[in-house]
Amino acid sequence: MKTYAKTLSIIVPCYNEEESVPLFYAETVKQEAFFHDRDVDFEFIFVDDGSKDGTVNAVKALREHDERIHLVSFSRNFGKESAIIAGLEKAVGDVTVLMDADLQDPPSILPEMYGYIEQGYDSVATRRVDRKGEPPIRSFFARRFYGLMRKISKTEIVDGARDYRMMTRQVTDSILAMKEYNRFSKGIFGWVGYKTKWIEYQNVQRAAGETKWSFWKLFLYSLDGIMAFSTAPLSIASVFGILFCFTAFVFMIFIFVRALLYGDPVAGWPSMMCIISLIGGVQLLCLGIMGQYMSKMYMEVKDRPKYLVKEEF
Ligand code: UDP
Ligand code: MG
Repeated sequence: MKTYAKTLSIIVPCYNEEESVPLFYAETVKQEAFFHDRDVDFEFIFVDDGSKDGTVNAVKALREHDERIHLVSFSRNFGKESAIIAGLEKAVGDVTVLMDADLQDPPSILPEMYGYIEQGYDSVATRRVDRKGEPPIRSFFARRFYGLMRKISKTEIVDGARDYRMMTRQVTDSILAMKEYNRFSKGIFGWVGYKTKWIEYQNVQRAAGETKWSFWKLFLYSLDGIMAFSTAPLSIASVFGILFCFTAFVFMIFIFVRALLYGDPVAGWPSMMCIISLIGGVQLLCLGIMGQYMSKMYMEVKDRPKYLVKEEF
């Protein structure tokens, strides 16, 4: 068997993807010739994120005729972020690439991506230029999320960015050096920096199976993203504090002057109630925001493993 000078590790998080795995493999090996010409061989790392279907067996079936196929199988569903980190930890390649199993990250652009790595880019990222085939409400909220992130976070988080990314060993090691428990990859990629080439492509529909992201799951994930890469919500309390102090001061003068000029009729119960409930609401909101950050801190401090491996080869 020929040995190659370099290895490209292809990392594939899979959650209930028994139908997609063989399709993905068949499509991806079509790109091999280009890489073999450059003395690069593939290494596949399928990360089974606690699938309930035959994903593990599908990977084992592929392994029978291709030794470059590896599997990390989790003890339960830990989420895509954990699958990504497990794959990156296992990868030995000089270059790594993250890809979804459902062929929404087209393997046909792998050669183009590698071309940029050869040109000296440290990482090649992809973004979708449209969101065709996605529910409009989801696109709407996704856009709002990225708009908000641009305002409140110093880390660049690109709208439409996919996790489909090719990276040199140096970038991979930098990502592995980020040990946080609450992981938000899109932010992590931006945070580590390096010279990144962006490639755009049209949205591709899933090859088989269905999406694992409900609207609610995406919403919670976006909150994770905000809290992991921005502390702006924490300053809401200070902003409201200043605002209310100022208003209270103006109000005090107003009441004082009114009492001097017109005496003090005992009225104003409705306005009092409004003010009390408004301030009470704001206080609870601010407490809630702090609680959110504290719960994240709590998880970080516990330092639990990000995933547990049941089986691996
Ligand atoms: N995935 C995973 N764990 C999860 C959810 C998803 O490993 O808990 C994988 C899934 O198998 C797929 C990729 O992450 O390879 C992207 O998921 P999906 O296609 O459902 O997301 P979408 O493309 O709809 O955003
Ligand atoms: Mg998908």
